[in-house]
Amino acid sequence: MTTIKLHNTRTRGKEVLDPINPDDVRLYLCGPTVYDRAHLGNARPVVVFDVLYRLLRHAYGADHVTYARNFTDVDDKINATALARMEAGVPGTLEELVQERTEETISWYLNDMGQLGALEPDHMPRATAYIPQMIAMIEELIAKDHAYADGAGHVLFSVKSYADYGALSGRSVDDMIAGARVEVADNKRDPMDFVLWKPSTDELPGWESPWGRGRPGWHIECSAMSHELFGDSFDIHAGGNDLMFPHHENEIAQSCCAHPDGEFAKIWLHNEMLQVEGKKMSKSLGNFFTVRDLLDQGYPGEVIRLVFLQTHYRKPMDWTDKKAKESEATLRKWRALTKGAVPATTATTSVIDALSDDLNTAGALTELHRLASGGEAADLLASAQLLGLLSEEMGAWAEGEDIDLTAYENALFDARQAAMATKDFSEVDRLKTAYLAAGVEVRMSKDSVELVPGPEFDADKLSAI
Ligand code: AMP
Ligand code: ZN
Repeated sequence: MTTIKLHNTRTRGKEVLDPINPDDVRLYLCGPTVYDRAHLGNARPVVVFDVLYRLLRHAYGADHVTYARNFTDVDDKINATALARMEAGVPGTLEELVQERTEETISWYLNDMGQLGALEPDHMPRATAYIPQMIAMIEELIAKDHAYADGAGHVLFSVKSYADYGALSGRSVDDMIAGARVEVADNKRDPMDFVLWKPSTDELPGWESPWGRGRPGWHIECSAMSHELFGDSFDIHAGGNDLMFPHHENEIAQSCCAHPDGEFAKIWLHNEMLQVEGKKMSKSLGNFFTVRDLLDQGYPGEVIRLVFLQTHYRKPMDWTDKKAKESEATLRKWRALTKGAVPATTATTSVIDALSDDLNTAGALTELHRLASGGEAADLLASAQLLGLLSEEMGAWAEGEDIDLTAYENALFDARQAAMATKDFSEVDRLKTAYLAAGVEVRMSKDSVELVPGPEFDADKLSAI
């Protein structure tokens, strides 16, 4: 059995994964709020924890891992996009427009993440389908004196009622108040208290509850959905490190207070943020783009994935155009090398070992390069596929170039045949020089011409010849 070690945010160290039930290893990832296209940063946790999902399936068997990733489909930002549409004259009630928006965004999301080679989780719960469970959990928290209603439609969680609050990020409540914009409100007994339920207007989505028509706070969603799907305790909870506080601290407080016999998630994993060319991605810097923007610009999903995997998930990662070019060349080379190869029955031990060491994807890629330089096509293919690379479905982008290269090979072959007769080799030399300049290695034997794209391969230069 593969021993998998993971860095647990809660204990601040690497731990051996010791599943509660090895026949059903359970992983929960906080998913997106579905109001717009996913930006490139949103894709990082999806790709990183997709590798974890694949590794767990490898180690415990595909039928013995359950992966859940939610959709937050009730939120002010969703309501705002629906309202803007209504004001722009789109027909329908606000509720209908909200629903249209969430449906549309969810289908974009699944499509975009699929292009990056992410397997679909076993469960993709939508918050709006779990409102009764959220209400039940809130009632339980009130009954246990961990929450209170303000009499005006709000229910708040009492942070002081949970002594371990802040244990995940290792900060005291006072530090957290100092570091965060904590909203002080008249209805709060303590500034740190956070909303479990709040009133909704008649036009906006809302549900009947013991506290009037309203809607849940964000944090209770993940606590209620993970409990419904996984029970009191499960193995791994993951998300971006921007969610550690307050979202994950609040999830822990709610879940552990409502279900004190369980321990909620045993291991907490957090990915670091993505930057672009060394800067924080932001709309004001003009370096903000969605996954779809990149795909539309012609970056294959597989290339984006390989760029992501070069950086360890607990380090900030930088998206650069240079990395994308290099990754494209690498994948072309690997795809050419493994063309027609049958994958080995399992990934190479060194690749599995690297991934099992807290998802050392960079180390795993070093091993793939080693296999490639040794020409070990079958091992390379099986190992790359464990990382979600070199799959048949993702290869269409590289296929097109293959066909093109055959045409260029034929052109050079024909030019040489002609030159043999005329003794004028200028056209042969011209083609060879142009191919080299396009980053293509030219291998000529007596009766064949083979073109191999190298790391500098540039399809545009080639087609301009
Ligand atoms: P949101 O829809 O904003 O709740 O974000 C969905 C997921 O994307 C969360 O797990 C965030 O932690 C993650 N995320 C957001 N921005 C970035 C970023 N720049 N880099 C990496 N992950 C991010
Ligand atoms: Zn969550």
